[in-house]
Amino acid sequence: MCKTARKIMARTRVYLDWAATAPMHPQAAAAVAEACARLAAGDWANPSSVHAPGRAARRALEEARARIAARLGVPTGSILFTSGGTEAIALGLAGAPPGPRLVGATEHPAVRAAAPGARPVPVDSAGRIDPDALAALLAAAGGPALVAIQHANNETGVIQDAATIAEVVHAAGGLWLADCVQTAGKLPLPEGADMIVVSAHKLGGPPGVGALILRERARFSPPQPGGGQEGGLRGGTENLPGILGFAAALEALEEGWAERLRPLQRLLEDAVCAAGGEVNAASAPRLATVSSIRLAGLAAATQLMALDLAGVAVSQGSACSSGTLRPSETLLAMGLAAAASESLRVSTGWGTSEADIARFLDAWRPLAARARRVGRRAA
Ligand code: PLP
Repeated sequence: MCKTARKIMARTRVYLDWAATAPMHPQAAAAVAEACARLAAGDWANPSSVHAPGRAARRALEEARARIAARLGVPTGSILFTSGGTEAIALGLAGAPPGPRLVGATEHPAVRAAAPGARPVPVDSAGRIDPDALAALLAAAGGPALVAIQHANNETGVIQDAATIAEVVHAAGGLWLADCVQTAGKLPLPEGADMIVVSAHKLGGPPGVGALILRERARFSPPQPGGGQEGGLRGGTENLPGILGFAAALEALEEGWAERLRPLQRLLEDAVCAAGGEVNAASAPRLATVSSIRLAGLAAATQLMALDLAGVAVSQGSACSSGTLRPSETLLAMGLAAAASESLRVSTGWGTSEADIARFLDAWRPLAARARRVGRRAA
């Protein structure tokens, strides 16, 4: 492709993969750059050092913690900074009191990998946890359990019933770890969760920073105390530029911004259904920013590649580290075996416009026509 064509493509590229990583908000990028400049100038140093630049870094760190806490509506002292959602999940699962582990059937791979041998908590075909099944598993667990259930799913956007989950888990003497990586900055965090996981890069902050929020520090034993940082509960020098970028990103979000994308989601989903596609988990309460779309008869990998060539970035929801595509484990857990290999995730954010949705539909409709032709030939 010639340079001019590449430039035009780049300019007209449509990014609809916000649930994987949101573009960094300009205010977050500026905060990271400013922090790096201060570290480069020697004005700031290691926040654990007792000298003046160390103390200045500590002040900036603690101010950022308070700003993040205020935005997330949690006590400042409950926040342990981590290198992202994956580490926060692993830390929460390893540091919770010993005992049985239960994990939602549609959890992110980071949860399943950190809880080997955990009992899965089934979901229905709309992706929602069945509270009776959860209660039965807790009763049979043989002791107070740690239950990891996400607030909203990363592939379908399905939002769990947080109040009911908290009630059922606590009635059985258990603890609830809520993976809120997809909801932080979009929905209020669940009040009944004992541990909450958040990640900056899903909401416009930099990648490589997140937090584990602990309602009760006393019940948590650090698996790796390290150098005593984060109150001795998470060793390792804090990522100060990243944390400042996280605070700036949260502050840049306007109240109710995510819900304002609902009309765009409707526009997208109505057009998809009119062209012969389906929306997975359509009947469940869902984030306005995530849609899982199935095109029966056409492999997700084929759709993904055709859209990429047309300059539209979406995802299948789960790509392994080698970059190859596998059927969606979320949709498989929902009993949607056929949809698992034929569905794409379209995810939006504060920068998405109606024109982006129109560009997606322009590129996707020919695929729907192709799927219909394939279907007619097969019939
Ligand atoms: N949990 C959910 C629901 C996610 O969507 C992701 C990222 O895709 C993670 C956890 C992992 O977060 P991080 O990328 O910050 O490690």
